[in-house]
Amino acid sequence: MEAHVSQDVREIALVTGASRGIGRAIAVALAQARRHVVINYRSSKGAAEETLQAVEKAGGTGETVQFDVTDEKAVHRAVAEIIEQHKRIDILVNNAGIRDDMLMIWMTGDDWDKVISTNLTGFYNVTRPVLKAMLLERYGRIVNISSTSGLAGMPGQVHYSAAKGGLIAATKALAKEVARRNITANCVAPGFIDTGMIEDESKERFAETVPMGRLGEAGEVAVVVAFLCSREASYVTGQAVGVNGGVY
Ligand code: NAP
Repeated sequence: MEAHVSQDVREIALVTGASRGIGRAIAVALAQARRHVVINYRSSKGAAEETLQAVEKAGGTGETVQFDVTDEKAVHRAVAEIIEQHKRIDILVNNAGIRDDMLMIWMTGDDWDKVISTNLTGFYNVTRPVLKAMLLERYGRIVNISSTSGLAGMPGQVHYSAAKGGLIAATKALAKEVARRNITANCVAPGFIDTGMIEDESKERFAETVPMGRLGEAGEVAVVVAFLCSREASYVTGQAVGVNGGVY
């Protein structure tokens, strides 16, 4: 059914925002599944190098690539270089994201734009050029990292909830557009995950709201992403899979 990418060719995976947190765990999980991982970062070069070391320690191969997902031209240049070098991109994980919590009453247009441009427009900027390559290959796996906030809405996160909810709707529409080309598009919606995105002082308070009584680990998200990126997930598309310890 998926004869277009031969099993003995190492698949190329691009993970945005993979210098730390959930993105790093996804890079390692994909390396464990024998993918060559292109590790994107915005500013944390040293941390991205550490992700590469973790990828290599997991028995995989990879490389680091700097670009800001909000900069469409820079993204296009970087994606073109990856495709020129590797001839294709089989897997795209749109993970890069930021939080900037505040009540809507205090939110400026700049606050709104910053969160939307990273979490939602970033998906558009990266996915469109990658999609062209996937359509030519007639194969692809796209996973977008959304959030419980995009499903349920969270106070203090009107812009973030809009971006993450928009990401789910965009994923569903894209999944239908490309389904016949053997390309799947899914979201993973993490709950509270123990990364730099959650301030230390908030961790205990968040954990108390989780039925499992604890924050999740980045690896617990990565394992679900890795499954959706696998050939075995061939009939799963347009879904938003929660990884949340029971918060939804
Ligand atoms: P994190 O530890 O803060 O890491 C964020 C990553 O995104 C970093 O690698 C950062 O790169 C990168 N990034 C940020 N802005 C970027 C940009 N404009 N261009 C390229 N890369 C950019 O966050 P995390 O907790 O791992 O979150 C990863 C994803 O999961 C995000 O989409 C987040 O919204 C989502 N999520 C997280 C949680 C949670 O509880 N942690 C819950 C639900 C959803 P640099 O290091 O170079 O800045």
